[in-house]
Amino acid sequence: MNKTRVRFAPSPTGPLHMGGVRTALYNYLYAKQHGGDFILRIEDTDSNRFVPGAEQYIIDSLRWCGIYPDEGVDAEGKVVETPSERHPHAPYRQSQRRLIYRQYAERLVASGHAYYAFDTAEELEKARAEAEGNGQTFIYSHLTRGALRNSLTLPEAEVKRLLEERTDWTVRFLMPAGRVVEMDDLIRGHISVDTATLDDKVLWKRADELPTYHLANIVDDHLMEITEVIRGEEWLPSLPLHYLLYEAFGWQDSQPRFAHLPLLLKPVGNGKLSKRDGDKLGFPVFPLRWTSPTGEVSRGYREDGYFPEAFVNLLAMLGWNPGTEQEIFSLGELVQAFSLDKVGKAGAKFNPDKAKWFNREYLRMHADAELASLFLPILKEKGIDAAPAYVEGVVSLIKERATFVQDFWDIASYLFVAPTAFVSKDVDKFYKPEIYAMALEAMEASDADTLEAYVREHEMPMGKVMNCIRLALSGAASGLGISDILHFIGHDEGLRRLRFLKEKLG
Ligand code: GLU
Repeated sequence: MNKTRVRFAPSPTGPLHMGGVRTALYNYLYAKQHGGDFILRIEDTDSNRFVPGAEQYIIDSLRWCGIYPDEGVDAEGKVVETPSERHPHAPYRQSQRRLIYRQYAERLVASGHAYYAFDTAEELEKARAEAEGNGQTFIYSHLTRGALRNSLTLPEAEVKRLLEERTDWTVRFLMPAGRVVEMDDLIRGHISVDTATLDDKVLWKRADELPTYHLANIVDDHLMEITEVIRGEEWLPSLPLHYLLYEAFGWQDSQPRFAHLPLLLKPVGNGKLSKRDGDKLGFPVFPLRWTSPTGEVSRGYREDGYFPEAFVNLLAMLGWNPGTEQEIFSLGELVQAFSLDKVGKAGAKFNPDKAKWFNREYLRMHADAELASLFLPILKEKGIDAAPAYVEGVVSLIKERATFVQDFWDIASYLFVAPTAFVSKDVDKFYKPEIYAMALEAMEASDADTLEAYVREHEMPMGKVMNCIRLALSGAASGLGISDILHFIGHDEGLRRLRFLKEKLG
């Protein structure tokens, strides 16, 4: 059996959407589970849609997730440009492989599976408008090609002349009429499609001497010895053409198997999760923050405070299920457990609350020392120079209440700085002269361990007194336990804060 070789083949047309990262992840898991190779190929033949920075963004995103290609533009964290023994298939950027594709386009013309088309953009526009006038849609196909300007309709000498004189011709696939293409998908099962409705897709363009997606994709999957193509559902309509291209080249025997992954859906409704949804609905759809060439900024999971392990885990569960109740998987465990037959056909609804749940789980699994080392720079930024051991203690006390490391500050800022503002509804409720007097008496006469007992023994109203003290310590009547706070800040500081409450509020 051939070694498993799969590829992730993004087009650098913008930042990678979380659905794209999921496709990369599933490919990676599949490759590793089968002891195979995961290849990263950049499909950048559409120069009109090229976005500067997008390729680097793709590389950075996969690295953040811990997904390192064995081969590809970024193999094992190093950019590979030239073929070598280790990277026989380089280059992996299609724009650097342009010379390869023309010969394959010509090969299809020679074998009668493709033809030259000379129709100008204006001529095609006219044909489109005419069809629309008759209430139809124009497609370049067996129905129309006989009346258009191409090597099937023009005399040979004319074709020769046009090929030399003009620089705007294309090579089109001759989509056979009256065929039913029988296909198999590892997720969707058997599919058959009648070619009657399919068009003669452009495969290669003289104008930029570049292939279109379809030709480049099939040629490269063949040359790179890809065994399985795992990609998004949006490519399913292209599958008949891809089958026919393999057939036209005579590569059926080594044709890869296909798996089309379900769409990611919006949290509500049945719409596809789009690149714009994140900013609209208040959650990230991109792995990393992205600044577009025009300066627009989109939030990223990394910058929102997600652990890459949590992001990988939550992505894995969007469309795949292990068939058990287990939800938390490391990347290594996913490699073991993943299988395409547990990937659903139906779209996977993205749930932002569940995404946060995953991060909370991972936050709790992190060691206190590690969390403290992530929290220390945040403290430093706020001008707080706290001892690591103290921060570790704080983290251990509060980690159960946090979703992200940056929540630590909101939960426990008063373990580092005294509050200077007090929640007014708590002030109205608990800052009363007689209660304050009792609170002060109790604090002066006890320490962190004996405070509560003192309040009880002297028959003071427990709730009110404690909340008055808590208000002084933390700025609000809710939050961490009083004895916990006092253990951290010290009893003297507690007393100072209680006195400050009166100074401040009178
Ligand atoms: N370049 C295509 C994309 O951007 C690749 C599709 C495929 O995997 O065949 O998604």
